[in-house]
Amino acid sequence: MRALPASVLAVCGLIVSACGGAGSGGTAAGQAANPAATQAGSQARTPAVVTDESGTPAPAERAPAPKPLEGKTVVIDPGHNGGNARNPKAINRKVNVLTQWKACDTTGTATNDGYSEAAFTWDVSKRLVKILKNRGATVKLTRSSNTGVGPCITERAAIGNRSKADAAISVHADGSAPANHGFHVIMPKKINGPVDPVVKQSSDLGVAVRDAFRKGTGLPYSTYIGNKALDYRNDLGGLNLSTVPKIFVECGNMRNAAEAAKFRDAQFRQRIALALANGLQHYLTT
Ligand SMILES: [Zn+2]
Repeated sequence: MRALPASVLAVCGLIVSACGGAGSGGTAAGQAANPAATQAGSQARTPAVVTDESGTPAPAERAPAPKPLEGKTVVIDPGHNGGNARNPKAINRKVNVLTQWKACDTTGTATNDGYSEAAFTWDVSKRLVKILKNRGATVKLTRSSNTGVGPCITERAAIGNRSKADAAISVHADGSAPANHGFHVIMPKKINGPVDPVVKQSSDLGVAVRDAFRKGTGLPYSTYIGNKALDYRNDLGGLNLSTVPKIFVECGNMRNAAEAAKFRDAQFRQRIALALANGLQHYLTT
């Protein structure tokens, strides 16, 4: 190690604690220089695997620890699809979601200036895939682009079931009155159907994602739906037909100007993806 300049030594003399790590290899200084990495590491509850905001592991100083989500399968369902609006016949077809018949899929909402929910959920989901894969998970998406149609909500549930997912999450954003704002999580209710055995686990998953989303994005709990951002429903095919723990996240209100501006910001979408990953990981590892 080269000698420290006199000016640095002088500062260290004044601020002993802040310079404590400098003489022992720079580990502490390196971590302190990247607060995002430190935060991600602590939220992940695996200090040995430090990741940056994209989920990329930092250079290891020792032999790498096993990745925290090794052996876990996560299915991510980006709500709606970019081609739905052009294919009303296909998406309006009625499917059985056990408690009622519903349209195969819907167009979703959009911001007032035309940023679609389908594009938003696709972008957030792709970011989430990357983070989870970097943490060792096997990840599947329910659609492969944002230019296609569907799949139907029944198939979206079936993909999670066939994958025997340890957790599944459907990513959405709401289209409510402009003054309404905040995010919420939707979890299944018992319907005397296939979802019943995973209602409790889905609730645990929902609370974990709610907590991580609040912490990671700073967005408030919904001002207009649910209790502390938790809502339970029995009318969603994606939940009723799931045999694996599954939730929906409504990331906020696209018709609210402040939240729309955030959703248009790629850095904020990365924060959302990281928060969702942290919530999933908390559920999957505790
Ligand atoms: Zn939606």
